[in-house]
Parts: sequence; C-alpha cells; structure tokens
Amino acid sequence: MIRCDNLVKIYKTADLEVVALQGLDLTVEAGELTAIIGNSGSGKSTLLNMLGGLDRPSAGRLFVDGKDMLKFTERELARYKKETVGFVWQNRARNLIPYLTAKENVEIPMLLTGRRKPLRALELLEAVGMSHRRNHRLEQLSGGEQQRVAIAIALANRPKLLLADEPTGSVDTKTAALILELFNRLNREMGLTIVIVTHDPQLAKKVSRVVAIRDGRTSSELIRRASYAERLAELERETAAGDADSHEEYAVMDQAGRIQLPASYLEAIGLKGKRRVKLQLEDERIVLASPERSDESK
Ligand code: ADP
Ligand code: MG
Repeated sequence: MIRCDNLVKIYKTADLEVVALQGLDLTVEAGELTAIIGNSGSGKSTLLNMLGGLDRPSAGRLFVDGKDMLKFTERELARYKKETVGFVWQNRARNLIPYLTAKENVEIPMLLTGRRKPLRALELLEAVGMSHRRNHRLEQLSGGEQQRVAIAIALANRPKLLLADEPTGSVDTKTAALILELFNRLNREMGLTIVIVTHDPQLAKKVSRVVAIRDGRTSSELIRRASYAERLAELERETAAGDADSHEEYAVMDQAGRIQLPASYLEAIGLKGKRRVKLQLEDERIVLASPERSDESK
C-alpha cells in the first residue's frame, strides 16, 4: 500500500531550510496497522502529510496504492485525497463542527465526496460505536466520543488508507486505549490499512507494528511476536532474555546498508561522538566496537 524510498522533505522559509525528512524508507503492506513513534520534530507529521497528499515530497520516491505520488498532477492529487485516503487529526476543531450533531457532522463532508458510493452516516456511526449518540451536538460529547465521530468522517469515502496524526493526543490514557482498540477493530473487520502517529510508546505497543522515526529517518521497528510469528520465524533465532516484552525491536536498514544505532548502545560501548567504529564479521554476526578497545584486545 505504501512504499517510501529515500524520501526527502525540505521546508524552505525566507531565511532557512529545514530538512524534515532525510531519506526515509518505509513499506506498509495492504491491511496492515502501523504506529509511527518519534520525538517531537522527528518528522512524523511531515511523513503523514506526504502520505495524505497534503504536501509534496522534495525528493525520493513515494508510491501509495501503486501510484507514484511525485508524478501526480494537481487534479490527480485532489482526486487521491478525495477517494483514497481518510485523515484524522489531533486537533478536533479541524475534524468537526461543534454546533452540529454527530450525524450531521458525518453527513456534511459526505456531500463533498467523490463518485464512489459513500457509506451511510448511521452505518459509519455504528462502526465507531457512536450510533446511540447520533443526535447529540458535538459540544455535548466527550473528547473520546468526538474523536470517534472524526474517525467516522474519515471513513465516509471508503478510503483504502486511513491516516491519523496523534488521534489520541488530547484525550486521557484510558480513552486513548479505547480509540486504539477501535483502530485495531476497523483494521481487522474492514481490512483497512491504517497508519497512526503517536508520541506515546506505551500506547503504540497496542499495535502489532511500530516504526520509530528519528531525525527524519526510520530508525527501528518493533514487531509484536504473536501475530508476526510466522513472518519473522527466520529472524527470531534464539533471542535470549527480555521475553517479558510483547514486541521485538529491529533496526531498520536502508538499501545501501545504512542503519541508525541507538544512542544508548553507542554510549554503552564508548562510541558516542566517535567518527569511526571497528567493524568485524564474526560467524554470522557483525560486531561493532570502539576502535581503541578492539586494538587493546589484540
Ligand atoms: P513531528 O510531527 O514529528 O513533531 P514535524 O513533521 O511536524 O515533526 O516536523 C519536522 C521538522 O520540520 C521540524 O523541525 C519542524 O520544525 C519542521 N517543519 C514542519 N513543518 C514545517 C513548515 N511548514 N515549515 C518549516 N518547517 C517545518
Ligand atoms: Mg506532529
């Protein structure tokens, strides 16, 4: 469903350039639910905006649903936004109109959708567990309920890809968990491909695949053991301790073989701030060491 190769996004303002994505690689299969985590400023929203067609990449390759997004004309882009993706934002004001009822909030954007037959407002409210509240005005609903309505709206054009930028950013932990459960259910029941951005690593663990972004690049992936057991059988050779965690962490390697090493690992072996690292191939392992240390041991 999604393939980003070496994706670059540079924001140019009057006097400076910000490289928000610096060669990001990411592949998402159709029907997958992926969470993206990363610190503030790491490029999560930038990535989601590229995927949603709200902004264009500066360089690299980006395919969504088999289409080359760098080659889109304005018209194709408008159509893509209308027919292929659904978007849920953290800021509820961007999703919803407070003085209209839940049902009206879902109906209005549906009037604007493309040729594909939209789902009925009530079905949508049902799908997100809000049909009993259909006649309540948005301002009468809790934050979590409003976010459910926003999700119903995002589903109205039957998107293939649902994107949510910090959809749980302004609700409490318990509500956030419920909303994540809803995404899990929509993914299972509708086979929808979903990408959710969150800054909360604990919350992200409710999702089977978590991709971590650092400085505009994918740095590592956490993959839940149970549901990916088969797919990763060959990767899961005798992993020692740390079984309490339901996810296993993998570093992400780009096509040129580059990986980002976690800062804590670098510190642990005294590599922090060094420009060179000793690389050795040992049996079937690649060993990284501080140059001095490995010289000493000779
Ligand atoms: P995140 O969502 O992970 O917090 P963003 O994608 O919003 O990160 O931002 C990544 C970087 O790009 C940040 O340094 C941010 O300041 C910068 N940035 C984002 N949007 C713009 C913009 N429209 N103009 C200039 N810089 C931007
Ligand atoms: Mg953001």
